[in-house]
Amino acid sequence: MKKSKYFTIISFLSLTLALSGVASAAGELKDANAFYYNGGFKDISVTENMKYYIPSYTWDQFGDYIDDSFSDFSSISGVNFGFEEVSWLEDADLFIVDTDEDGTYDGLPGIMIPCNWSGSTCNKVSYNSRWELAAVFLLPDNMEREDFSSINRHKTVLHEIGHAYALEHQPKGVNSVMVPGKLTITSPTSLDISNLKWKY
Ligand SMILES: [Zn+2]
Repeated sequence: MKKSKYFTIISFLSLTLALSGVASAAGELKDANAFYYNGGFKDISVTENMKYYIPSYTWDQFGDYIDDSFSDFSSISGVNFGFEEVSWLEDADLFIVDTDEDGTYDGLPGIMIPCNWSGSTCNKVSYNSRWELAAVFLLPDNMEREDFSSINRHKTVLHEIGHAYALEHQPKGVNSVMVPGKLTITSPTSLDISNLKWKY
């Protein structure tokens, strides 16, 4: 079956999405507090030309949202973000794939798992570490079950790519695409943009 080669990554899942960081008075996480502590790509400059590998069956389902998200991040002025498609997962900084809920995703609509290569296996590493690949798994089963609209799906894609920039979750009620859950934000907000500008 076509998805089997990704199981090496999936098998290293551990769903420990601990919320950390210090909230500001308004509840918003700003600057350093908006990011995984010491987390991000080993080579931060890959964000200038983030190489992505996305299987065609994932493009078929999520390509519009991915395209729109790439365009949103690329068009933020004051940072230099870009994207480039590559033909091999091994060459990618960002991997986006949709997969079946197998009981390990805890009902989430999507998740970003950072990993580092060891031979042909990308091993999950801590969010508070430096990684080689940001692997985004989208879970249509869970989106379906939670009755996600196209806007909710779009938000999920944008949110998971936000994690690839090492942005962590914002508290509920904050105006940010990094708030988890079934929301309708489909572009980075001013808070998200100012945080990205702080780091990049
Ligand atoms: Zn998240």
